[in-house]
Amino acid sequence: MKRRISSQFRSHYSAELVKLPEGYRVSIAGYVVSVRLHGGVIFFVVYDGGYIQCVAHMDEVDVEVWKKMLEVREYFYVSISGCVSYTERAPNGVEIVMDDVRIVAKPNRIPPFHPYSRKLPSLDKRLDIRAVDLRRPQLHAIFKIRHEVLQAIRRFLVARGFIEVNTPKIIASATEGGAALFPLFYYDKEAFLAQSPQLYKEQLSAALDRVFEIAPIFRAEEFKTDRHLSETISLDVEMAFADYRDVMNLLEDLIVYIVNSVRRYCIAQLAFLNIGDLKVRKPFRRISYDRVISKLKDLGLEVGWGEDLSTAALRRLAEVYREPYFIVDWPRGLKPFYIKSKRGGVTESFDLMWGHVEIASGGSRVNSKRSLARRIRMQGLNTESFEYHLKVFDYGMPPHAGFGLGVDRLIMVLTNRDDIREVVFYPRDPSRLTP
Ligand code: ATP
Ligand code: MG
Repeated sequence: MKRRISSQFRSHYSAELVKLPEGYRVSIAGYVVSVRLHGGVIFFVVYDGGYIQCVAHMDEVDVEVWKKMLEVREYFYVSISGCVSYTERAPNGVEIVMDDVRIVAKPNRIPPFHPYSRKLPSLDKRLDIRAVDLRRPQLHAIFKIRHEVLQAIRRFLVARGFIEVNTPKIIASATEGGAALFPLFYYDKEAFLAQSPQLYKEQLSAALDRVFEIAPIFRAEEFKTDRHLSETISLDVEMAFADYRDVMNLLEDLIVYIVNSVRRYCIAQLAFLNIGDLKVRKPFRRISYDRVISKLKDLGLEVGWGEDLSTAALRRLAEVYREPYFIVDWPRGLKPFYIKSKRGGVTESFDLMWGHVEIASGGSRVNSKRSLARRIRMQGLNTESFEYHLKVFDYGMPPHAGFGLGVDRLIMVLTNRDDIREVVFYPRDPSRLTP
């Protein structure tokens, strides 16, 4: 790693210290996550993207410097000068023996909790002061894992020949029908925030073959659950010349790759979050909707054929299926119009489940204009609103398939949080529009 950006505040980052010899003089800059004073010795742990312990003995520093050190509290931004010292006492084997500290910025309010405190306010209270909350090591770990998930997705898909695209988020009509849209004023017209890039990514795959997008989707979900947000990040993948089985194979490989990347690059973060057993095995089970219904019946939960699976049903299944699994071949009535039908009133579709959380939905797409128009009408929608999409089919549309994956949900599951809002900077839900 080469990231030397020396400035008046820092000569090195903490992560670079292990490459330096004992006694090398450095300056580092960051904010303080803990302060301990112990019989004339003061310890700071400073965060600058990594953690570094800094230590000073009362007798070994200038009196004025010692006084400044005693002023330092959690959340102070500091620039520290001192010498590299290798010692078993430091959590990562190296620390800085300080000879000076410069207080660069200090809070003018006392934050309501310390970065390491065990007694924390509720999630809602913490979200109101997310700036403080984000300075906790737990949040550092979650956001580092979040970063790694996004990096892994891009690495994996690019290596498989996908290209990254962007589609409009201000749209004229619903992608899938339904009421879960946020309307807005677009000059003198009504417009909406996109609930999914579905139709656009299908058009892109016809031209570019394999595409993906990582972007927000907007859903006017009316209720608050542990896994629904009004704005959330979606990974959308679409590939030409593929069906839902090909896409499930790809998605399975992707999940395994993400998990392995997190295990490899986020060892400290997983340990900090007490996640010891993050593991997934291929192949993931593929269970038909029909079999799920009869399984639930065996478990004492009656679900009528054609009904959606309630949260209670999904939680019950999560007790049986501990690893990620696919529910495949959903009834036509439960899937949007662009999903291809197969015999028996079902569709070439799947949901990827992990625990009780639906991580992704996908399927083979209808690629004939006539069938698509028919399906649009069957769902009680107006074909005129989809004219812009239907006319694309006149120029030829290969068979294609894809999925949408909830990135925030995946991160919630990987980090073992029980509320999706834990892993999002400023979540949007029915009761939360600010900050
Ligand atoms: P659910 O049934 O859980 O409400 P959905 O079937 O309506 O989800 P899809 O339209 O299939 O959602 O969207 C694809 C994926 O996007 C979902 O599998 C999920 O991971 C994610 N997702 C959808 N809606 C939300 C939301 N409101 N908040 C967070 N993630 C979402
Ligand atoms: Mg779904």
